[in-house]
Amino acid sequence: MTKRTPLIIGNWKTNKKVDEVYEFLHEIQGKLPNVKQVQVGVAAQDVYLHEMVKYSESLGLPIGVFAENVHWADDGSYTGETSPAALADIGVTGSIVGHYERRKMFKETNGSVGLKVSASLRNGLTPIVAIAEDTTRYNPDDVEMAPLTEIAVALAGVEKSAAHRIVIAYEPAWAIGATEAPSSEIIEHSGRVIRQSLAILFSQDVADKIRIQYGGSVTPDNAKSILNLPDIDGLLIGRASLEPAAFLKMVNAA
Ligand code: PGA
Repeated sequence: MTKRTPLIIGNWKTNKKVDEVYEFLHEIQGKLPNVKQVQVGVAAQDVYLHEMVKYSESLGLPIGVFAENVHWADDGSYTGETSPAALADIGVTGSIVGHYERRKMFKETNGSVGLKVSASLRNGLTPIVAIAEDTTRYNPDDVEMAPLTEIAVALAGVEKSAAHRIVIAYEPAWAIGATEAPSSEIIEHSGRVIRQSLAILFSQDVADKIRIQYGGSVTPDNAKSILNLPDIDGLLIGRASLEPAAFLKMVNAA
């Protein structure tokens, strides 16, 4: 059985001011586990990323800095976008790609997500590919369909030899910003279906290496039971990642 290192990512969205970014990183100094045991990252607005990389390095923090979105071209005339080459240039580790909020509010499609996944891999970035059932509540049929369509299109351009570098984040639309996460049964079922889809697309061996995170209403109280699920290898955490003590508790649950 392949051992997958858990990956815990805080997704700050548009929530922190620069002083709070520094404060958070300072707060967690010396409190993170060894990267061989758990990999930790925070995703923030582009405007903070370079400072975050430099400040984390100066503190000796074993943490990856992630973008929340990335453009699909390395350079050229794309006013307002941030290229994967620029992110790699400043030492960013990877990017969330296709978060539900981007799909819903900024009209991202599986096609554009696919281009961004390829662009990330081409530039040495880790893409965290967020997939979700876009429904208001749980429906088992959606769990079967979402991975098949979203993964098949979004990962169509990925070479089998590079596929292990991808991370999948299962984030059902109805659980993001909700009052509670789905049951362990639902999360594990989705994780298993996603891994089966990856095995069909690449191979079982590759699918066994790809990390699948769960995201949507993760808290310090439910983190451990979610991380104990066999097909779930990490967390993508929104609100509960904003506060250092809560974030550390979820990191230490891994
Ligand atoms: P939440 O958000 O943890 O606040 O539900 C998760 C996300 O959108 O990544």
